[in-house]
Amino acid sequence: MTELIFDLQVFLLNLSFIFLLFFIYHKYIEGKISKVSNAIFIGIISAVSILLCMSFPLSPFPGFLFDYRLIPFIIGTLYGGRRVGLVLLTVLLAYRFMISLDEGFYASIIVYTLMLLFLSLMTPYFKRMTNLHHKLALALIVNLIGIISLLTVLYFFNVNISVNGWLSLILFYFLQLIAMFLFINFIERAKKESIVLSEIKELEKLKVVSDIAASISHEVRNPLTVTKGFLQLLQDHTISLEKKEFYIKLSLEELERAEEIISDYLTFAKPSIENIDLLELNREIQYILKVITPYATMRDIDIMFEKTDDVFIAGERQKLHQALINLAKNGIEAMSPNGKLTIKLTSHENMAHIIISDTGIGMNEEQVRRLGTPYYSTKTTGTGLGTMVAFSIIKAMRGHLSVKSSLGEGTTFTLTIPLVQHEESSHLLP
Ligand code: ADP
Ligand code: MG
Repeated sequence: MTELIFDLQVFLLNLSFIFLLFFIYHKYIEGKISKVSNAIFIGIISAVSILLCMSFPLSPFPGFLFDYRLIPFIIGTLYGGRRVGLVLLTVLLAYRFMISLDEGFYASIIVYTLMLLFLSLMTPYFKRMTNLHHKLALALIVNLIGIISLLTVLYFFNVNISVNGWLSLILFYFLQLIAMFLFINFIERAKKESIVLSEIKELEKLKVVSDIAASISHEVRNPLTVTKGFLQLLQDHTISLEKKEFYIKLSLEELERAEEIISDYLTFAKPSIENIDLLELNREIQYILKVITPYATMRDIDIMFEKTDDVFIAGERQKLHQALINLAKNGIEAMSPNGKLTIKLTSHENMAHIIISDTGIGMNEEQVRRLGTPYYSTKTTGTGLGTMVAFSIIKAMRGHLSVKSSLGEGTTFTLTIPLVQHEESSHLLP
């Protein structure tokens, strides 16, 4: 065995399997599911990667198979936890057993069981680490230990390997270290990106909350002034009992209104709890109208809502509110006094449509194109994050947001969100 046994095809195949699966995971799954199912998905994806890698191995001498199964094994256990590690070990050994019952199988038992024990000790530290370099270092050390134990076990199995063979194996595993480095980097960067995005969402919401605050306090002052007036009237002892009761009734109604405005506002201002609920859109839109109406009233804008029959979708309640309020608020801000904001809800072909239109200044094509890109704002105190956040929230609900606008006439935003059959999930309703 003098020729070089390193095989570029095997190397590239192995890498692309792992990369593809982790890419799919981060692009489409992470962040949309709960923690428990997250671990399950990490497990499934790592297991599939392991199986694919093992199906296309390098086999320079009989009885032994070399591939990059160690990468998904380590990544899966570090990110998924010990239980995922145990499942991966079982899958790996079962598949190796099915391939053939040779020395390589026994070598795998020794190496990967030891690896799992070692990884189990390391995962808690890994989870707590916040520094990318520390995480990288730990993952690389674990990987290196795996490789060294593999080669050691191989040595003790007295396999007859040429110097070239050893060199190829070392090259193969050296490249594995580099691949591991790139994967952890990729995963950590993707994670960081999604954290930054959710932080932007929260910050942007704070800005909206503070923008609306002025109109809320304005709206609360009216009932207070009215109530104060009635109380002053009540000080007069000569008024009839009937009148007294009438004043008290009106005062109580006004106070209740103020109370309601404040509590709606506070519900919106609360930080989001992230869980998926079954949402009835008429109800949710009516709620956001209550929050946004004071803001519209202060600018002399009328809001119209065209309801429809019950429309159910699945999503995070507060996130949906945030998206709708951002769009409605933009509409209000685009109009001069006496403008009209119309919200229309319809549903057909398994889709719910929320149409928000204003009679405001509108946008030209260039402006529409830039909509949703961060920090694009034409307002002096704008953040340019409102539409971006709305786009990303709707996308996370597997929906779609489209814009039609013409300068001087107005703008229409159409949200399209997949419906949920009510019967299927009525148990989700609060
Ligand atoms: P902000 O409201 O803080 O400026 P947004 O992301 O909400 O940020 O909006 C970005 C820009 O898009 C706005 O500054 C405005 O120029 C334009 N825009 C958004 N919605 C409308 C609308 N309904 N009518 C006209 N222009 C709009
Ligand atoms: Mg805005």
